[in-house]
Amino acid sequence: MGPSASASRLLPRPALWRWGRLALDALVPPLCLACDNPVADPGQFCAACFAQVHLIASPLCERCGVPFEAAGQGGALGVCGDCRERPPPWGRARAALAYDKVARRLVLPLKYADRPETARHRAPLMARAGAALLAQAQAIVPVPLHRRRLFERRYNQAAVLARALARPAAPALLDALVRTPATAPLGELGREARALAVAGAFGVRPARAAALRGKCVLLVDDVLTSGATAGGCAKALLEAGAASVDVLALARAFRRP
Ligand SMILES: [Zn+2]
Ligand SMILES: [Zn+2]
Repeated sequence: MGPSASASRLLPRPALWRWGRLALDALVPPLCLACDNPVADPGQFCAACFAQVHLIASPLCERCGVPFEAAGQGGALGVCGDCRERPPPWGRARAALAYDKVARRLVLPLKYADRPETARHRAPLMARAGAALLAQAQAIVPVPLHRRRLFERRYNQAAVLARALARPAAPALLDALVRTPATAPLGELGREARALAVAGAFGVRPARAAALRGKCVLLVDDVLTSGATAGGCAKALLEAGAASVDVLALARAFRRP
C-alpha cells in the first residue's frame, strides 16, 4: 500500500473532498460567476457580464431594500411607501443583485445544475450587500425547501448559501424551519393570494426553538420575489421567540412599475 492510499484511509471524507477541490482549482482557471469566460480570481464577473449585471446599492429603502432613484426619497425614516403602508414582518431585507438575465445565470446552477459548490463564490456578493445584517446576526437560517423538491434536487440552495455565510458568531441552523403543507404553485397566484397561501406554511422545528430564542436571526434565500415566503418564515421565527429577523438573498425580483 502506497503512502497516498494509507493517507486516504486516515483522512476524514470532508478533508479529502477539500483537498480534491483545491487540486481542481489549481488545474481549472477560475471562471466568471455568470458565464464560462476565464477571470483572474474566483468569484469575479468577466468584463462583459460586469457591464450587464445590476448590483443593488444605496440609496435604498431601509426596510425592504428596494433601490431609490435619489437619496432622501424615503423621507426621514428612509423607508419606501409600500413599507410605510404595510410594514413587512421582517426588519430589513437586502439582496446582492436585481433578478435579471445575468442574475439568473448565477442562480440557476445553484438550483438545477447540481452544483452546490458554486455557493462559496456567490456568498461574498451577499455578504457585501448584507454586511450590516450579518454584523448583527446571531443565527443564520435558510428558507426550507419542500420535502418533495428536496428529494428531487437533493439539496436546498438556500441552505448551501446559509452555510457559506455562516461564521462563529452566527452559526447556520440549517434545519430550524420546516415547511408544513404542500403549497400551490405561487407563480399563478396574485400578490394577496400568494401571501395567504404561504402564511402558516412554515414552522420552527421544536428542537431548534431554544437555539433561536432571543436571537437576531438572518433568514437566507436564493431569490426574494414577493416577500411572501420570507414573511411566512419571519413570522414563524418571531413566534418561536427570535428577537428579530432580517432577510438576505442573492437576487431580488422587483415588481414592474
Ligand atoms: Zn461573464
Ligand atoms: Zn421598502
